[in-house]
Amino acid sequence: MKKNKFEGLRLKEAFKLTMEKGRIMLRKTTSPVHRVIQIKAQISELAFPITATQKIALNAHSSLKSIFSSLPNIVYTGCAKCGLELETDENRIYKQCFSCLPFTMKKIYYRPALMTIVDGRHDVCIRVESKLIEKILLNISADCLNRVIVPSSEITYGMVVADLFHSLLAVSAEPCVLKIQSLFVSDENSYLLQQDFSLLDFYPDIVKHGADALL
Ligand SMILES: [Zn+2]
Repeated sequence: MKKNKFEGLRLKEAFKLTMEKGRIMLRKTTSPVHRVIQIKAQISELAFPITATQKIALNAHSSLKSIFSSLPNIVYTGCAKCGLELETDENRIYKQCFSCLPFTMKKIYYRPALMTIVDGRHDVCIRVESKLIEKILLNISADCLNRVIVPSSEITYGMVVADLFHSLLAVSAEPCVLKIQSLFVSDENSYLLQQDFSLLDFYPDIVKHGADALL
């Protein structure tokens, strides 16, 4: 690939490349502003990127059946220590995580997702890490989706997880309280260059947790 003449500059935090009217501009930035906000909002979509071009999007239109059948794709097998997704070799044996050797344990994780929330008039996209997906799913580990809840029943944890996603994304779902970290980068003229939101915590049952006290 041809080297971009701005490549070296991109590493410097004080500058930011932007596209303006079809031209690449170099702007001096002020330091990023981190802010923690807590809002009450409805979740309209959860999108799980799988590859650069492929993603699974769950929303109010997704049927319980389709959510359940997409579960194997929204989890991955990773290194139990650092969470790195592990690839398989030609014999479908998982490769080891080289940075964590001699530790070779594996674990199944939920994929990080992009959550779209609706807050009045605005749609906001928030990054959600694997651990918080697990919290949203009442701490049901991705490792036990195929397990039955009680030996005599046929109900698996996967079915419960699909049902939780389904009710969370339903049009009639109660809003949840979300603790979000926002990152804003602007230039010297307060021109917004970048904004980024990530979920810090999730409180599903507003009645129980007293949302009004939190807000
Ligand atoms: Zn590792």
